[in-house]
Amino acid sequence: MKLAFIGLGAMGFPMARHLAKQHEVIVWNRTREKAERHAREYGSHLARDLAQCAEGEVIITMLPTSKEVDEIVDQLETHLRRGTLWIDATSGDPNVGRETAHRLAAKGVNFLDAPVTGAVIGAENATLTIMVGGSAEDFARAEPILKICGKTIIHVGPVGAGHAIKVLTNSIMGATVWITSECLLVAKQFGIDLKTALAVTNAGSGRSNASENLLPMRLVEGKWPLIFKLVHHDKDIRIATSIAHQQHASTPLLALTQNLFTAALHQLGDKADYIEVAKVIAEMNGTTWEA
Ligand code: NDP
Repeated sequence: MKLAFIGLGAMGFPMARHLAKQHEVIVWNRTREKAERHAREYGSHLARDLAQCAEGEVIITMLPTSKEVDEIVDQLETHLRRGTLWIDATSGDPNVGRETAHRLAAKGVNFLDAPVTGAVIGAENATLTIMVGGSAEDFARAEPILKICGKTIIHVGPVGAGHAIKVLTNSIMGATVWITSECLLVAKQFGIDLKTALAVTNAGSGRSNASENLLPMRLVEGKWPLIFKLVHHDKDIRIATSIAHQQHASTPLLALTQNLFTAALHQLGDKADYIEVAKVIAEMNGTTWEA
């Protein structure tokens, strides 16, 4: 099958690599060198321009936000062919996704929102969890393609449902990272060794992905890799907050989490990794994790 993949960032690059092993994949990236390298090293086909992506029977986007997806739709709109399936793997906004689906439907193009979770390592190893919003027919068409990039593919509901559950689940993670960091800092200030505090947490009721996988490397070993940009995580939590607002829901902890992450983003800047919020927590307490 001929696919087009747009957005070869930290996630998109390895996802397109897996797809290129089984399909003819046209790749396009804003910074062309990345697409050139992909084509050179992984057997994909470098798009001569964005318009060529319209040749894909399936078009996949993996971009920062729904805004960039819509800009791509604007540029491709006149070239699109009826019967094309557009899979948006971006962690986007469900309301914008619905509007995009509506716009594309007028062109005879079907739309699925299919954001992913599992981090860059999951994209590298094709073990992502992919949550899909759209019709059952479109899901059936997309599933074999998504299975090349992910291990668990879940049809969540109609268009928008994938984006919605993605930002909600990331908000759960954000709140967990924050509270776990706070409590570990208090344990450290109490005089408990961080490794010991983590060992108890991970053998007990406070255990989470944050305590088991995300925090030990940073807090104990002092390694702070850039894996998932804080700016993306902040975006996800802000979308979750806006959905809650739209549902007239009372979600004080979600609102607080959003405020904390947005404040941390202002402090740490666009280049920070999301777990660096733990540094802000230490600073709020006049200390560092090393001290
Ligand atoms: P990156 O910042 O690594 O990559 C973003 C991609 O979008 C790059 O290819 C970039 O092109 C392209 N891009 C940015 N702005 C534009 C624009 N205006 N027009 C066209 N292309 C543009 O992001 P990630 O791969 O980390 O994340 C992508 C999505 O996946 C986000 O929605 C994120 O929330 C989500 N996600 C990320 C995870 C992670 O661990 N990183 C995990 C799960 C989901 P260029 O190369 O030119 O900069």
